[in-house]
Amino acid sequence: MSIALHGVPIGGGIAIGRAHLISQSMDEVVHYQLDEEALPEELARFDEAIVTTREELERLTASVPDNAPAEMKAFLSLHVMLLSDPMLTEEPRGIIEAQRCNAEWALKQQADALVEQFDAIEETYLRERKHDVLQVVERVFKNLNGQGVELPDGDWDGELILVAHDLSPADMVLFKDSAFSAFITDVGGSTSHTAILGRSLDLPSVIALHNARELIHEEEWIIVDGEQGVVMIDPDPLVLDDYRSRQERWRAARADLACLRLSPAETLDGEFIELHANIEVPSDIEDVVDASADGVGLFRSEFLFLGRDTLPSEDEQFQAYRKVVSAMQGKPVTIRTMDLGADKNARWMSHGVADNPALGLTGIRLCLAEPLLFRAQLKALMRASVYGKLRILFPMVSGLSELKQALAQLEIAKDELWEEGIAIAENVEVGAMVEVPAAALVVGSFFKLVDFVSIGTNDLIQYTLAVDRSDDAVSHLYDPVHPAVLKLLSHTIKTANKAGVPVSVCGEMAGDLRMTRLLLGMGLTRFSMHPAQVLAVKQIVRGTHLETVKELVARMLRTEDPDKIADMLTQLNAAPGV
Ligand code: PEP
Ligand code: MG
Repeated sequence: MSIALHGVPIGGGIAIGRAHLISQSMDEVVHYQLDEEALPEELARFDEAIVTTREELERLTASVPDNAPAEMKAFLSLHVMLLSDPMLTEEPRGIIEAQRCNAEWALKQQADALVEQFDAIEETYLRERKHDVLQVVERVFKNLNGQGVELPDGDWDGELILVAHDLSPADMVLFKDSAFSAFITDVGGSTSHTAILGRSLDLPSVIALHNARELIHEEEWIIVDGEQGVVMIDPDPLVLDDYRSRQERWRAARADLACLRLSPAETLDGEFIELHANIEVPSDIEDVVDASADGVGLFRSEFLFLGRDTLPSEDEQFQAYRKVVSAMQGKPVTIRTMDLGADKNARWMSHGVADNPALGLTGIRLCLAEPLLFRAQLKALMRASVYGKLRILFPMVSGLSELKQALAQLEIAKDELWEEGIAIAENVEVGAMVEVPAAALVVGSFFKLVDFVSIGTNDLIQYTLAVDRSDDAVSHLYDPVHPAVLKLLSHTIKTANKAGVPVSVCGEMAGDLRMTRLLLGMGLTRFSMHPAQVLAVKQIVRGTHLETVKELVARMLRTEDPDKIADMLTQLNAAPGV
């Protein structure tokens, strides 16, 4: 009998295939009993994993570049030290022998006991070291081969659908090159970076399903409807037939859009709108070219730093930026400096230490706290600037003084390159993200320092409404058309337009078809979204009469009643050609 689960749709159409369950948390560790004779082999397997992990950590410590944050070296040394402690190397051996259990289970039990001890410590710094213990334990798990996110290789009967409790943005980046058809998770918010990467993969996906991983079995047939947010487990033949025809219709509609590739994004009353694309890794650029986007409006460069143990060097970054800039053949490429922190944690960052990571050392704050690392990136960007039209964008700016400090770092980076005799382009445009309400309110003051601004609606909504964008428990409060959000958006766009400073929206709102006319009506002429959405947004732009939309949106902005706003939005989108 079919079972239907409902979650948050991320888009990408419909997939029908077999489930592959991904174990990621320590709660999902396998447990099995061993015969007495198997114990020596199990102990040897454990010892080997410890040795491999130690070698790995020592290699990493030796490879830390000089410009790496001091935190990175300290973090690795601490992990080497932890791994030499009998609490991790000896105690689990004792558990394997005493309980005749597998090494993973023994290690998990020991880790749980240690976490309990750490939790009882009053002193905050020491208490937080439990995260380091857990990270070391995770490394040992991976080397035991029983843990980590792995995809099956070889023949797979049917399409592969990943089922996970949660996936980190770093996992999603690793999956970019893997052959799977859809993914679903138990948790997550619609603008979390996991969801954003899901959209950029253009695969059917549904998140916040709560207990999908518990209910679905390995290799079970499932349907993922990324449009409606529905997952069908073990569908019966009638349901399957119905979804197969929906899948066909969705694919046909998608194929029809392709004919818009070379048509201009021009409104019915002749206004040209720029449609740019967002990317996370250099290989995404092919999709941008395919969609015939006007440029890259947001390259989230921090993904170059995720899912790895070492830092990308200046040279490695330069190659990545050059690849993207060259591929766009003169079209603009806006590269955001690393926006790490909150849900995008590099392994060397101290997880969990901040009580409130989204309000902690993230975005430009982290860049400014690590000037050597920041300058290596700025130098890589400036070196790539001679290969096309590169723009630099600073993330999470909350005020003018941060912006001034970031620009000062850019000047130092340019001076260093000049001294090294390396050519850079002149007049590289520099911009600031507007994603903190404070920045939106004082955006006018930025204009004497920057050439453009880009509104990050994902964070702007999160910070304006005090709703964690990754937490599905509060996702019903995450409202892009909350009157306060609309006021900040409209103020930013209006102020920039009045000053003649280019303004774009690069958050998920830019690719959300329900929001296209709303943003157009606010006076937005530059959008940036994941590549798969460019043609669908273009279709709406081409069917919109701008002046009429502006009148309707002006009325919308005058009300603070959410019900009226919802009605007016429906009206705005329902009218054909308005
Ligand atoms: C945003 O906040 O809207 C944005 C574009 O940045 P990110 O989603 O990477 O935080
Ligand atoms: Mg952001």
